[in-house]
Amino acid sequence: MNEKQRQKRNFRNSKKWKKFKADKRKECKGIDAITLKPLRKGWNLHHEDLNEGHYNILNDNFLPCNNLTHKMIHWLWTYWRNDKGIIDRLKNEMEKMEKINKQE
Ligand SMILES: [Zn+2]
Repeated sequence: MNEKQRQKRNFRNSKKWKKFKADKRKECKGIDAITLKPLRKGWNLHHEDLNEGHYNILNDNFLPCNNLTHKMIHWLWTYWRNDKGIIDRLKNEMEKMEKINKQE
């Protein structure tokens, strides 16, 4: 763990962060912003600002979401940032699966 990561971890253990996270949960009424399903144990605030040095700037650039949603956002980001077509291909795959599985 490098110094920045250590500072971030310590900040995330602070009262200031815990209150911020609790306030954000109230703000979104406990709903995952992407799936629109209730936040579950282990939910997190996705930080949309990826600049490592901005970990302690508490503003509107945080998205409450469940663990898997969070992982999916970061996974998708790694591809989407260079290839916007990934969304269309995912949509096509979902539509194909819908068609295949309607026939049951
Ligand atoms: Zn994140």
